[in-house]
Amino acid sequence: MVQIIQKVNLQDAISHLMHLAPNKKNLLITGATVVDAYSEYQADVLVEDGTIKQIGDIDANSPVEIINASALYLTPGLIDCHVHLILNGSPNIVDYVQTKSDSELTAIATANAIRTLQNGVTTVRDMGGKNFIELKVRDAVNSSAIPGPRILASGKMITSIGGHVRYIGREAHGAEDCRRAVREQIENGADFIKVMATGGLLTEDVEHEGIELTAEELAAAVDEAKKYEMKSAAHAHGLAGIKNAINAGVDSIEHGSFANKEAVERMTASGIFWIPTLKSLRDILDDDIGSNLSKDCRQRARSSLNAVRKALKYCTKNTKIACGTDAGTPYNYHGENSIELELLVEYGLDTHQAFESATTTAANLLGLGSRIGLVREGYDADLLLLRKNPLDDIRSFRKSLVEVIRSGSPLLKNKIY
Ligand SMILES: [Zn+2]
Repeated sequence: MVQIIQKVNLQDAISHLMHLAPNKKNLLITGATVVDAYSEYQADVLVEDGTIKQIGDIDANSPVEIINASALYLTPGLIDCHVHLILNGSPNIVDYVQTKSDSELTAIATANAIRTLQNGVTTVRDMGGKNFIELKVRDAVNSSAIPGPRILASGKMITSIGGHVRYIGREAHGAEDCRRAVREQIENGADFIKVMATGGLLTEDVEHEGIELTAEELAAAVDEAKKYEMKSAAHAHGLAGIKNAINAGVDSIEHGSFANKEAVERMTASGIFWIPTLKSLRDILDDDIGSNLSKDCRQRARSSLNAVRKALKYCTKNTKIACGTDAGTPYNYHGENSIELELLVEYGLDTHQAFESATTTAANLLGLGSRIGLVREGYDADLLLLRKNPLDDIRSFRKSLVEVIRSGSPLLKNKIY
C-alpha cells in the first residue's frame, strides 16, 4: 500500500502557531457592567497590548476588535492558588506519578493548563510537580507557545526523609539540607517555595496530622527563601505543624484543616494567607466518585473536612482566605476550579469574601496585587464575561461564563482552542 505523506506547508504551520499566540489587536468591550471586589458600574473597557488602557465612555477610533457586552458582567479572571498541573485526578497518585513518563506528564500538564484557562482561571499557583515539568509548561505559556493561565510554580515540594509526597518531592534532613533544597528550587526557576509541615491524606504510610519537617527545618527553609525574596507556602493539616509553620513565618498555610481558634487568630493577626482547599476533601468524600479510594484515605478526608468546617468559623473579615482547589488530586479535575468558591460560601464565607478569595486576596498572596485581580486601568487584561452577576450568585463563574480574555485575547470567541 502506498502511503501518501501530506506535505506540510510551512507558512500554514507558522500561521497556525501564530493563531495560538496572544492577540495583539486592541480590544474594546462596550457597555459591560464591571464587577470587581471594590466596585460595580457600567463602562466601556479598552485593552491595548494585553493591558487595560482605559475605562469609561470610549469611542473606537482606531482599528479595534469590539465585543458588545451590554448585557454582560465583566470581572477579573479567577486565580487558583493551589493546583498541581501534572496530576489528573487519578485516585492512585503514587502509582500515577511513578509510572507516567516525563513526556506524558508534560502533555497532561499542558492539557490541564488549557482546560483551567478555558474555565475562567487566568492565573494559577502550582504547588508542586515532578522534575520541574510544570516550570517548562509555565515557560511555554509565557513564550506564547501554548495558551494557558499565568503560572507561578514551586518546583519540588520540600519534605522530610520518608515523608509525604517523597516520591516526587525533595527529601531534606536538617536545617542546612533544607536551605540547600530551597536553593535547588530557586536554581531551577521556582517562583516560590513549598514546604511540608505535616503528612497528608494521600501518603498512607505517614500520619496526615503528624509533623514532617521540624520547626527548626521549616524556619531554615523560610529564612533561606527570604534571602532570595521568595515567598514560602506550608502544607499543614495537623495543629502542631500549623503552629510550626506560623512560627517559621510562612506566607501561606495550605489546607490548615486542624487549625484551632488560636491558630486562626495568629494567622489573621500576622497576615498569613489560608487556603482551605475544600474541593479536594469533598471530592474524596463524594460517594459517587470517591468510593474507589481506601477507607483510610476517606476517613482522613472526613476528619479534615469536619475540622476545617469548625476552623473556618474562627475567621474574621481580616482573615486572608485565598481560593485554592488542590486540582489534580483524586477526582478533583482541572477546569472545575470555580466550584471552590461555591464551597467557601457553603462553609460560611459571604459571596463577596469568596469573590475576593479568587481575585484581590489571591493576587496579594502572589505578590501581583498591582497587576491582576481587579478591573483597573494599567492592570493586565485577564478578564471574564458572565451572563449573571457573580455577587448575586457565585455559581455564575461555572454556569454563565461567556468569554475568557487572557492578556487581552478573547479566547473562546476566536476559538483559540
Ligand atoms: Zn496540594
